[in-house]
Amino acid sequence: MALSEFQLIHRYFESSRFAAATGAGVIVGVGDDAAVLRMPPESDLAVSIDTLVRGVHFPADMAPADIAWRSLAVNLSDMAAMGAQPLWFTLALTMDRADESWLEPFSRTLAEIAARFGVALVGGDTTRGPLTISIEIHGAVPRSGALLRSGAHPGDGLYVTGWPGLAALGLRRLGSGEVVSDDPAVAAFLRPEPRVAFGIGLRGLASAAIDVSDGLLADAGHIAERSAVALEIDVARLPLAAALQGLETREDAWSLCLSGGDDYELCFTAPAQSAGAIARLAQRHALPCTRIGTVSAGEGVHCHGFEPPRAGFDHFGGLA
Ligand code: ADP
Ligand code: MG
Repeated sequence: MALSEFQLIHRYFESSRFAAATGAGVIVGVGDDAAVLRMPPESDLAVSIDTLVRGVHFPADMAPADIAWRSLAVNLSDMAAMGAQPLWFTLALTMDRADESWLEPFSRTLAEIAARFGVALVGGDTTRGPLTISIEIHGAVPRSGALLRSGAHPGDGLYVTGWPGLAALGLRRLGSGEVVSDDPAVAAFLRPEPRVAFGIGLRGLASAAIDVSDGLLADAGHIAERSAVALEIDVARLPLAAALQGLETREDAWSLCLSGGDDYELCFTAPAQSAGAIARLAQRHALPCTRIGTVSAGEGVHCHGFEPPRAGFDHFGGLA
């Protein structure tokens, strides 16, 4: 490596570009043997880690700036699903060589999304090997107030934010090369927008929540399982983005919406008395939030009006 490990860390991850997000509670950040962090009072710590491997979680030719965005966005999305305020993250970066033409845009965009969401990079690890980005994120929730997958009750409504399926359409278009500039579907795939503020707004309103990474059906299935309930999805209520409405068949649009991954929308359940507050929250954040069904007694996720061809992506089982 032309650049030593320490020069690399200093130049790209300890640099002033991350200063915009020094983050609350950082006593010691990058540069010592460990970060020292102070939690806000009366809070619980929410911790999550996600690893992205080239060729597995993102296309081998994906631009470094897009990889940076995605690697932090997926972690921010986990915080959103817990109703947590993200505070700090660490970065374990593995790469073949210290390629500055890769590191420069990666670090720049990582700093950009970190500043946007107010999270501080407080440490990490740098190693040589096939390109892999692993980020661990830490956030705060009010004591005993985290949104869990396990709280859904029969009678609750089932909701989803935004436009599920749009990212999967974007990935399909990238794969087939039919990309036009400013395509909202491609943008949804390349620059997913974690619903952090909305997740925080759901504290005290939602009974259960999850973020949609593997597809709406697959992830709703985790709520059903953890809450020991059934979820009834009324397919006619699914929010279809304009790009999905424009597809040749409605079945294709529904399949993408139900089974496409990489959305990073929030899927959640809430009791009837939360409905008005949820509508106001959606309005305040200018984020569509659609009631797509109901929680009932039983198990599994049931689609009414259309039988989807496949569930989401499972890394060990392949396509289910
Ligand atoms: P140690 O050998 O004590 O584990 P390292 O040499 O791995 O320390 O790292 C030195 C400092 O740089 C530590 O504070 C560590 O958290 C930080 N660091 C290493 N790699 C990264 C990275 N990719 N991003 C941010 N900080 C990093
Ligand atoms: Mg050390």
